[in-house]
Amino acid sequence: MIINRSKIVVISFVVGGIVLVLGIFVWFRPTPNYSLSSIHEVKNLVPVAVVGGGPAGLSAAMYTARARFPTMVFAGSKIGGELLEASYIENWPAKEKLSGQEMMAQSQKQAEHFGAQIIPVGVEKINLKTWPFEIELDNGDHICALSIIITTGGAQKFLDIPGIDTYRGKGIGICTICDAPFDKGYEVAVIGGGGCGRG
Ligand SMILES: Cc1cc2nc3c(=O)[nH]c(=O)nc-3n(C[C@H](O)[C@H](O)[C@H](O)COP(=O)(O)OP(=O)(O)OC[C@H]3O[C@@H](n4cnc5c(N)ncnc54)[C@H](O)[C@@H]3O)c2cc1C
Repeated sequence: MIINRSKIVVISFVVGGIVLVLGIFVWFRPTPNYSLSSIHEVKNLVPVAVVGGGPAGLSAAMYTARARFPTMVFAGSKIGGELLEASYIENWPAKEKLSGQEMMAQSQKQAEHFGAQIIPVGVEKINLKTWPFEIELDNGDHICALSIIITTGGAQKFLDIPGIDTYRGKGIGICTICDAPFDKGYEVAVIGGGGCGRG
């Protein structure tokens, strides 16, 4: 293949331009300043803020509070998370069967026992470009945190078909790994093939 001189010049300009733009982006990218020197001036500062009060958030809070890091859990409206909707849980070690509500009440109690504060307020915005990080709560309050653990979970998509609300948890499940053993002996249709569906 023959490449003439003008093509080489154009290619060099394009490659040079891309490198220059990337260089400028990396150079001017705002990075938080993790200096401890001005921390004492920061108001409403919490060492660990956990966003979300489901199994992941309460477990995280249990660890950090137990390690003596003052911890606040901003749990939103659903302290306990999705498992509150689970009638029974059988894949939890050390207990053959327990209700979702029982499990999450125990988890909350355990996190609080080690000193975690669990607050039924949601998080609206987080600014990770400054440090300490800034958190805007959905009640309008602002706090700062040295570290943030985000555990806001996910959401299922339900089909828009008759009976979906009536039979939810009574034959219509959202997680094959969790619910399949309850359906032994029944004919089952699986819709969706992601994470929980593949079980
Ligand atoms: C009916 C049902 C039965 C299930 N059964 C089982 C089972 O038997 N076994 C099993 O292993 N799993 C089961 N699961 C799955 C299990 O519930 C989830 O895997 C688990 O709850 C995920 O935990 P998580 O903490 O990541 O998220 P979630 O439980 O979804 O918790 C998310 C938390 O984040 C909070 N949140 C969300 N947005 C914000 C915000 N902006 N600010 C502050 N907080 C926020 C919510 O209020 C909630 O507290 C079941 C789920 C359902 C729905």
